Amino acid sequence: MAKYDYDLITIGAGSGGVRASRRTAAMGKRVAVIENLRVGGTCVMRGCVPKKLLVIGSHFADDFEDAPGYGWTVPETSFDWSALIAAKAQELDRLEGIYHRILSDAGVEEITGTGKIADAHTVEVDGKAHSAETILVCTGGWPHLPDVPGIEHAITSNEALDLEDLPKRIAIVGGGYIAVEFAGIFNALGAQVTEIIRAPQILRGFDEDVRNVLAEEMKKKGITILSKTVVERIERASGSLTLHFSSGETLEVDTIMYATGRKPNTKDIGLEEAGVGLNEKAAIVVDEYSKTAVDNIYAIGDVTDRINLTPVALAEGEAFARTVYGAEPTAMDYSNIASAVFSQPPIGSVGLTEDQAVVQAGLKEAIDVYVSRFTPMKYTLSGRDEKTMMKIIVDSETDRVLGCHMVGLDAPEIIQGVAIALKCGATKAQFDATIGIHPTAAEEFVTMRDKREGP
Ligand SMILES: Cc1cc2nc3c(=O)[nH]c(=O)nc-3n(C[C@H](O)[C@H](O)[C@H](O)COP(=O)(O)OP(=O)(O)OC[C@H]3O[C@@H](n4cnc5c(N)ncnc54)[C@H](O)[C@@H]3O)c2cc1C
Repeated sequence: MAKYDYDLITIGAGSGGVRASRRTAAMGKRVAVIENLRVGGTCVMRGCVPKKLLVIGSHFADDFEDAPGYGWTVPETSFDWSALIAAKAQELDRLEGIYHRILSDAGVEEITGTGKIADAHTVEVDGKAHSAETILVCTGGWPHLPDVPGIEHAITSNEALDLEDLPKRIAIVGGGYIAVEFAGIFNALGAQVTEIIRAPQILRGFDEDVRNVLAEEMKKKGITILSKTVVERIERASGSLTLHFSSGETLEVDTIMYATGRKPNTKDIGLEEAGVGLNEKAAIVVDEYSKTAVDNIYAIGDVTDRINLTPVALAEGEAFARTVYGAEPTAMDYSNIASAVFSQPPIGSVGLTEDQAVVQAGLKEAIDVYVSRFTPMKYTLSGRDEKTMMKIIVDSETDRVLGCHMVGLDAPEIIQGVAIALKCGATKAQFDATIGIHPTAAEEFVTMRDKREGP
């Protein structure tokens, strides 16, 4: 008789939970995964996938506008929001089916309901106890709404993906990547978009040039960015919503979306009672192998608030399975993780920002910066006023490339390849020795020769 019902119980069937569970089951272990919403988690159901589908859908607006420059006659176009939302919902159902199949093919048992840790080896779901040698917590995160009077009238990214109608006027509060992505979607689809940020500029933490260039391009597309603006209260009146700012000014819109941050799902699931430590942001504290303060309880993904991206949660899941079941202790390497923002135009980034490089190098003179700005070829004939910006940051002593950043068409697709070079420790000389692919925007990354003069 086995001592426990399972070798591993995973709480949360999102990106990290599914990967860790199926890898562990593939090593011959008895695994159950508990999920209280939909298998696939945030990325598939409420994040990366539906968002990207809406980005793709909304970009046709630009494509129709650009086509006449290439000889096309475009008849009057119209857009049906509910058709896009229905098609997206169908795709998510398909993906959910695939996730169920992946788990069952791997031999992972699914338990539906909310998992709560009762003790270090027991998880309760709807009053039923399930025991396991090891527990893995991958409960992800949830949008956090600040305590502003009238906040109950605001929606989050969860609801924005399923709105019944396309709003005519929308205010998006927040300056992070989710906020700018939704600003791009709604703007391209014809809504009047106002983005409201407390800070002087959008996208805190990104390279300054990237922040400035994207803000400029968003404004050119008709998005209003209200910086250094604080919302004091929200009021509903006869079918519209009014935002009251601390400046005394107001803004009337139809929909208000808050994208001011996410909180780890760590409340009321028995973590602290079991001895699992949380930090000041309520994220689970783990060591380099994702182990919590309790020897047999591990945590991965957004609930640990390290780098909150799907591929990171997947890699942490993989590392967990190798460490605990593969006798191959595997610590994650968080350096040079590329990321994208699916804004319009999009961003691709890998490595250090210029500011981070200066801090690391100690002196501005210790780095070389290469910047290129140009009109993408697609927009030459169409006449669209949109520029691409590409930037390389180099350690002047070692010649090693420390960071690459791009704002412009295809940036996420281009940066993925560049990330391999940075992971390999490539130097600027090796970038220069690489023959470009012509005519592309990507070739600019291997043909930039002129250092930026001055700051
Ligand atoms: C709008 C948006 C856009 C995003 N876009 C991108 C992107 O473009 N690229 C990218 O890399 N990342 C993106 N992300 C981030 C990405 O979705 C997350 O980093 C990723 O999903 C984290 O995976 P996870 O396994 O940690 O958690 P999740 O995927 O959140 O999974 C956690 C699961 O646990 C379940 N759960 C929670 N508590 C319990 C409980 N007590 N019992 C049972 N089940 C429970 C939840 O229902 C959920 O299914 C986006 C996120 C959002 C919100």
